[in-house]
Amino acid sequence: MTIEEKILTLKKEKNALILAHFYQIPKIQDIADYVGDSLALAKRGQEAKQQLIIICGVCFMAESAKILSKDKTVLIPAVGAGCPMADMVTYEALKAYKEEKPERYIVSYVNTTAAVKTLSDICVTSSNALNIMKQIEADKILFLPDKNLGGYIKKQLPNKDIELWSGFCSTHQALSSDKIVAIKDSYPDAQILAHPECEESVLQYADFIGSTKGILDYAKQSAHKEFVIATEEGIMHPLQQQNKNKIFHLASSKLICPNMKKIGLEELYTCLKEEKEEILLDEKTIQQAKQPLDKMLSMS
Ligand code: SF4
Repeated sequence: MTIEEKILTLKKEKNALILAHFYQIPKIQDIADYVGDSLALAKRGQEAKQQLIIICGVCFMAESAKILSKDKTVLIPAVGAGCPMADMVTYEALKAYKEEKPERYIVSYVNTTAAVKTLSDICVTSSNALNIMKQIEADKILFLPDKNLGGYIKKQLPNKDIELWSGFCSTHQALSSDKIVAIKDSYPDAQILAHPECEESVLQYADFIGSTKGILDYAKQSAHKEFVIATEEGIMHPLQQQNKNKIFHLASSKLICPNMKKIGLEELYTCLKEEKEEILLDEKTIQQAKQPLDKMLSMS
């Protein structure tokens, strides 16, 4: 039996649901029941009939799935798969900020820990952040943790007083403006599709700025045939699968998130077999962290 067959057999026996992020390796994306962005994974887990949910992604994604499905068992195949950006804001640091500036409305990117979500007024994703922040009545806002996504939104909402946390995604940050200029010269007919976690100096060259789902949708409906992709390299797999007659170039070989690559087929098999590592959150954390997520869902 191949490892893929062993995984599928166990999945059937245990009636498990495998959900994978777009940044996972192709073999994980191919074996998953569903591939999507972090919020879509959490929502799929919530809607599923299965009681056993495997999240192939990083820890904050598995936590979000647990928060929305507290009575289900949520597992992650690589417990050390953290997100450096999410770790750039701690519960203690945000608590101290709130004590100093209680008037600020706290908007947290979903790339945050469950503990940070408990102190947040609302969560947003890269696809709904602008739309939701337009609807927020508060004028004084703290956006965290991504200064790049926050800066991109802030530019479009000049009437709001938005403070930015100083976090960033080390993977997207690795793409420099020099590199994007060089690649633009190499592929002059290509459109540049960039994720807003890239720095502004990179985003200024983009023909389209959007979330992973936004980039996939744009490439599919576009009449253009050639694209430079400025986000994590895992997205190249669904892009190529969904657009057989189009050409995609990754903007830089540095666009690889090491945490997203911690899960392989062996890790997934062991996770299913041993039912480890389980995401465990206490009831109070789940209850408090669910509020900003529910608020986002009701406004998006
Ligand atoms: S790509 Fe960036 S934001 Fe996404 S998990 Fe990796 S480090 Fe975190």
